[in-house]
Amino acid sequence: MSAARHGGIAVSFEFFPPGDAAMEATLWQSVQRLAPLAPRFVSVTYGADGSTRDRTHNIVTRIGRETALTGAPHLTCVGATREAILDVARAYWQQGVRHIVALRGDPPQGASRYEPHPGGFAYAADLVAGLRGIADFDISVAAYPEVHPEAPTPAADLANLKRKIDAGASRAITQFFYDTDAFLRFRDRCQAAGIGVPIVPGILPVTRFPQVLRFAARCGAAIPERLRERFAGLDDDPDTRRLIAASVAIEQVERLRGHGVNDFHFYTLNRAELTYAICHALGVRPRAPVALAAGVPA
Ligand SMILES: Cc1cc2nc3c(=O)[nH]c(=O)nc-3n(C[C@H](O)[C@H](O)[C@H](O)COP(=O)(O)OP(=O)(O)OC[C@H]3O[C@@H](n4cnc5c(N)ncnc54)[C@H](O)[C@@H]3O)c2cc1C
Repeated sequence: MSAARHGGIAVSFEFFPPGDAAMEATLWQSVQRLAPLAPRFVSVTYGADGSTRDRTHNIVTRIGRETALTGAPHLTCVGATREAILDVARAYWQQGVRHIVALRGDPPQGASRYEPHPGGFAYAADLVAGLRGIADFDISVAAYPEVHPEAPTPAADLANLKRKIDAGASRAITQFFYDTDAFLRFRDRCQAAGIGVPIVPGILPVTRFPQVLRFAARCGAAIPERLRERFAGLDDDPDTRRLIAASVAIEQVERLRGHGVNDFHFYTLNRAELTYAICHALGVRPRAPVALAAGVPA
């Protein structure tokens, strides 16, 4: 089974390295559930200080070994020299990994601001150039419809995105957002700046609203009043919350679809249910069931 477009739509799914055995079982159940939707790729995040390096690597390797999915590890500039990071990338290439999500990374816990590692890549654009220098990777980078919190101006942030694309990235995946107009304006600005690659919206279905508020405060995503109203009073009502979350996200992807968006990236938080439902609403249907060779850990 190869990655496919479904009526012109392509999807990708993001997972994170689980912290314990129960979360690990949830992750592999989710991979198994979502795999038949034939995503273009599935990406696996990388801990802020590189702490999940081995776990990111192990998940991507297992995905490559046991499924027909294209695994895409995230790689950051934090806490390592250029050579150490490029060694990781070379090892990926040797194992057949062809897609990398290249990021600067956030400061590790306890650090108030980002400091480039001495001898490391300072910014994601430098990492993209470094990766391009070693192999012909398909490289995705991050983009910020509501502007990266550390960027001095929106124009400087856009210029940074252009540097990442000019250095060799082939798509930009956005930070999650709930202000769809902000995404559409950003896409127009990218086009006007001569950025020709796909700007893929990052969709974060709401599993728990307080968690989304925390994420949003950290990355500067606006929470529209309408969204707050929809989730008000549902903190202890998971069934209703799931129904609302599905309808909110379906509304969002349908609006984007109406504006010609064909590619969608889902922040799954390692859970399949909402992402599967939203994909179904988009017309993305299963191709063939996938059984992991080693089974799903209990
Ligand atoms: C799709 C996606 C996936 C992510 N996955 C992970 C992950 O797995 N692990 C993780 O730790 N984090 C992850 N993040 C978070 C990301 O690491 C942070 O948002 C980080 O703060 C910025 O990363 P970047 O790659 O966008 O950085 P950059 O593109 O390097 O930009 C960072 C900031 O520096 C500014 N800047 C860039 N170049 C210069 C320069 N030369 N001089 C001055 N300022 C400059 C930019 O405008 C911006 O404000 C992800 C984000 C997204 C959107």
